[in-house]
Amino acid sequence: PRVKLSNPDLLIEKALMGGEWVTGSAEPIEVDDPFTQKSFATVPSLSKEDATRAIDAAHDAFPAWAGKTAAERGKILRQWFELIADNTDDLARLMTLENGKTFKEAQGEVAYANGFIEFYADEATRRMGEIIPANEPGRRMQADRQPVGVCAAITPWNFPLAMLTRKVGPALAAGCTMIAKPASQTPLTALAFAKLGEEAGVPKGVFNCITGKASVLGEVLTSSSRVRKLTFTGSTEVGVKLYQDCAATMKKISMELGGNAPLLIFDDADLDAAINTAMVAKFRNSGQTCVAANRIYVQDGIKDRFLSAFAQKVKAMKAGDGFDENSDVGPLIDQKGFEKVQEHRDSALKVGAQCLAGGGEPGGLLFEPTLLGDVPQDAQLTKEETFGPLAGVITFSSFEEALRLANDTPFGLAAYLCSSDPKTIERASMGLESGMVGINTGLISTPHAPFGGVKMSGLGREGSHHGLEEYLNVKYLCQAGL
Ligand code: ADP
Repeated sequence: PRVKLSNPDLLIEKALMGGEWVTGSAEPIEVDDPFTQKSFATVPSLSKEDATRAIDAAHDAFPAWAGKTAAERGKILRQWFELIADNTDDLARLMTLENGKTFKEAQGEVAYANGFIEFYADEATRRMGEIIPANEPGRRMQADRQPVGVCAAITPWNFPLAMLTRKVGPALAAGCTMIAKPASQTPLTALAFAKLGEEAGVPKGVFNCITGKASVLGEVLTSSSRVRKLTFTGSTEVGVKLYQDCAATMKKISMELGGNAPLLIFDDADLDAAINTAMVAKFRNSGQTCVAANRIYVQDGIKDRFLSAFAQKVKAMKAGDGFDENSDVGPLIDQKGFEKVQEHRDSALKVGAQCLAGGGEPGGLLFEPTLLGDVPQDAQLTKEETFGPLAGVITFSSFEEALRLANDTPFGLAAYLCSSDPKTIERASMGLESGMVGINTGLISTPHAPFGGVKMSGLGREGSHHGLEEYLNVKYLCQAGL
């Protein structure tokens, strides 16, 4: 790679299963640096048989891991947390190399991701059961919880570490074992994380990290009756398929899928808060987040002031190499992602949108942070996730119109609103069909809050005590004759 790691042993071109680092027999998969668009490492392309062996390893490791106390498991997770913190810069280097995001953002992601390991290290010791009032004298009734068993995790490339730790933290804390399959674009961060887990004392087979063709590995993970839960973050299209594939073995499911987040800016909003919200909600991670403000609706009274201040901010942003300190956004992940942003820009301009900032393509997969005003309400970019640094602003007049437009989507992950009127805030936040609402802020994710969506954006929650429940089954005990 073009940037050296302090500890070169963290660049790992093998997969981990049952405590063994394996290479697999097929042609390995190339990992590209999105800035140079050149391959700089490879990872194994594992077979169906390899995936089955990983499941068996997780299955064999389960009883002993589930049999430990929550505090014992927490101690190992705490050790893992410390090692991740100590190796922040190397993990961030790997992330910038394989994902393209700026090094500063990558460092921020490591800290954020590590927060899930830290939070769940303790959270499992606070999991309580319930004593239920007996339905007959002489009975003791209680509801306890047990870990669901072997879990499979399939994760995306946009947050190579955080999307993994959100799943690994609660799963392992609960007493589950796991097989993770990171995205093929960004497997190296996940493998380095796995290595640190090994050093932290995670027993063999408790955490396995496998790489290879998604459809091949996905088929094995979803069809195995030994895998009792699938947790997935990625596109709605793939999520629907995986959900169907899990039906035959009746797995427990968590799905964090696509979003199409609206940001509503009302006339009475504080202008600075509105600009800050729009900047963060839109441009974080080059706009490649499932909670990105994909549609910015601005009320006609504040529109001109908002657009001119927002345009100034966007013009000041620079797209460049993630390792260059002057870059605000790095390259997009790949050609397909790049073309989608181009398409959204071009189709909006064609139907009458105005380019108010950016719009250029400085080379490679770099896309200049761009602001489009006067976007028609039915432009393509309002219907699909752009996943890039392109902000489209649409004008509205009334509260009712704003809410109708915001909810006119099959998705329901995040939504944002900016207002200083308590009544508007209350009505909008309760009326928005989404799992999360950011009010006068664009930054809402944190390990101790429940993240997740409604409608086609998914099932289940990650983070907080809700995130732990996803890895537990309720067990009801009824004792008679007392
Ligand atoms: P994105 O658009 O973010 O790349 P995807 O849903 O395509 O979203 O990918 C998210 C994760 O799902 C990645 O790890 C990818 O390899 C995996 N994936 C894609 N297709 C399949 C499939 N058919 N079966 C299992 N996993 C898949």
